[in-house]
Amino acid sequence: MGIIGAGIAGLAAAIRLRLEGAHVEVFEAGDTAGGKLGELVLGEYRFGIGPSLLTMPHYIDELFELAGEVPSEHFRYRRLETVCRYAWEDGTRLDAHADPQAFAEEVERVLGVPAQRVLATLSHGREKYDLTGRTFLEKSLHTPKTWLTPEVGHALTRLHRLDLTRTLHEVHERDLKEPHLVQLFDRFATYNGSNPYRAPGLLSMIAHFEHGAEAGAFVPEGGMPAIARALHGLAERLGVIFHFKAPVAEILTRKEGRRPRAVGLRLTDDQTVMFDRVVSNMDVFFTHQRLLPGAPAPKRVLAREKSTSALIFYWGVDDSFPELDVHNIFFSEDYPEEFKALEAGTLCDDPTVYVSISSRYDKRAAPAGGENWFVMINAPFATPEQDWPTLIERIRERVIRKLERMLDRPLRKAIVEECVFDPTTIEARTLSHLGALYGTSSNDRMAAFMRHPNDSRHVDGLYFCGGSVHPGGGLPLCLLSAKIMTEVMARQAPLSRRAPD
Ligand code: FAD
Repeated sequence: MGIIGAGIAGLAAAIRLRLEGAHVEVFEAGDTAGGKLGELVLGEYRFGIGPSLLTMPHYIDELFELAGEVPSEHFRYRRLETVCRYAWEDGTRLDAHADPQAFAEEVERVLGVPAQRVLATLSHGREKYDLTGRTFLEKSLHTPKTWLTPEVGHALTRLHRLDLTRTLHEVHERDLKEPHLVQLFDRFATYNGSNPYRAPGLLSMIAHFEHGAEAGAFVPEGGMPAIARALHGLAERLGVIFHFKAPVAEILTRKEGRRPRAVGLRLTDDQTVMFDRVVSNMDVFFTHQRLLPGAPAPKRVLAREKSTSALIFYWGVDDSFPELDVHNIFFSEDYPEEFKALEAGTLCDDPTVYVSISSRYDKRAAPAGGENWFVMINAPFATPEQDWPTLIERIRERVIRKLERMLDRPLRKAIVEECVFDPTTIEARTLSHLGALYGTSSNDRMAAFMRHPNDSRHVDGLYFCGGSVHPGGGLPLCLLSAKIMTEVMARQAPLSRRAPD
């Protein structure tokens, strides 16, 4: 089995397929495993390049357990009591506690909204997840068996509870009413790169992932890149063979019957490796465009609207800010305007600013007395008209002024290291089409059905996993994509049950 890419889904796929007894080789263009989970070092400061928020770590534990290992011996994490610290320009400050009761009480104390209203909203989010999660997130949507279950039958009788005809924002206005709280909950749409004013109300289940009774936000020992290191280690112990700095140039196919069949990979003009099946963890758009030129492609699926991208400032800060937590949000005063600008392919003058400081829990990430600030604002996916150097200059100044104003203390001079990623850098560094963070957006009701499936309908023996295919982007879903892909593959042609050597 040949796997292209060692992103989190590629690693999970390698582990699962190896545990099924397959010979597995992973070809990774970069020099380390993890893809978007990579690390950036600036002087004495270390940063996770991409993800900063870990939810549902049990999907990582599951891989160690499947291999008969004790997860905590290789990968440790802890749950944060406060998921995020929120700040508004009018001086409102709110700590969103992971514990739903504590969160609801904090909302009541700060915003005067009855705690019961928050608990009811979270519980409605949980109901939506219970009704649809197993079908839409844990199974292939392209297998008739998925639809012929009592769960789907039950969900159909509860369709009115799913808010499919309302936007996420409309649902929050209806249920939460208070503007700060509506904005806080609307922000969950950005967890998969969507727009709360367009995304369906079904997405209110995302709040449940952070504030549900047994959910929450977690921090891994050693920072987010430690996730990739732990899974890479597990895969190697199982006997997966890794080739780094090994970009795949082409998926080799042979005409067999009606459709071509994937038979191997071409790395360079004189280096090819033959495999019975190929898995691509590479962005599905680039897989078709670059590795399968001339082969038939699912054009409508590949043309779907992308998720948002990001403008990220990695700042080594030579000072400490005890008033900040691990995850902090400084809200825009005009949220609808922020999303209008994104839809227009640009940035508004007052974007919402997310500041994540992993040195709060990983002391090795910054020198004593300093902090590693990962400062991210939502940005549109890349288009040719955008002038990023000009936009960055303008927005950097506004972000610094906003943070200084809302923190009521100087920041500018404390920034001693800096690196900036815009959507074009993200596309180049992480090889994601147009720099989209989460593959395609979830801005319409058909989004879940229109993601690329986990196997190819055009090339036999070719499979997909990762954030650009079903069930979507974000670490938990990428891990699920590897699981679904392995199941689809095993159903089509049983894998050998031989135990790994
Ligand atoms: P990727 O990480 O995209 O890796 C694909 C791999 O394929 C790469 O290593 C690449 O080098 C390799 N590759 C590509 N082409 C080739 C080729 N031709 N040959 C060989 N190798 C190739 N998710 C969260 O859960 N929480 C967050 O807080 C969060 N924040 C994010 C912030 C940012 C800035 C970004 C960029 C993403 C964020 N995400 C977050 C999303 C999450 O990072 C991704 O959904 C996930 O990491 C994608 O994993 P993947 O398996 O699809 O592969």
